[in-house]
Amino acid sequence: MNNIVIFGAPGSGKGTQSDKIIAEFGVEHISTGEVLRAEIKAGTELGKTAALYINDGNLVPDALIIDMLSATLDKKGKDIKGVIFDGFPRTIAQAEALDKMGIAVDKVLSIELSDEEILKRLSGRRECASCRATYHIEDKPPVKEGKCDRCGGELICREDDKPETIKHRLAVYEDSTAPLK
Ligand code: AMP
Repeated sequence: MNNIVIFGAPGSGKGTQSDKIIAEFGVEHISTGEVLRAEIKAGTELGKTAALYINDGNLVPDALIIDMLSATLDKKGKDIKGVIFDGFPRTIAQAEALDKMGIAVDKVLSIELSDEEILKRLSGRRECASCRATYHIEDKPPVKEGKCDRCGGELICREDDKPETIKHRLAVYEDSTAPLK
């Protein structure tokens, strides 16, 4: 297995870079943020609990994330080339759990960006409510305002990309994830 962890503050472009790595190396993508957003959309118990943390810009408790990751890995099966972990681990406890699962990390990538650039990127970020494609109102606008180029879905601002929540997410990254790096 070739396992990669991609680090970076919210909005640093982990998802975009992950997509390029997947296309090049054929590894599987696991974004804990995406899995959580799918749980919220589906209205599951996990989704309902997770939304309470996510919408305020806080981390979802380690125990929930670790169980969810383990289930996601089980679903992928054993026959995979490797995984790019995007947004996991985010705390030292999560990294220790990955170790306990016997998963070795071969490479860690860290995307470094100034807070100023991150604020600009996140406040302009828009996401398709249907297919999850991402846009930026200035740097990568859709052809038709408010509509996804790929599927015509409605473009929305993620609840946790609201300006007041972004600053808190950056502080959480510094407190919990930067020490792990
Ligand atoms: P992301 O899409 O990676 O920016 O994640 C969005 C939100 O989901 C984060 O701000 C957290 O609230 C939650 N989240 C995602 N991954 C984790 C994780 N590994 N540990 C705790 N919370 C997470």
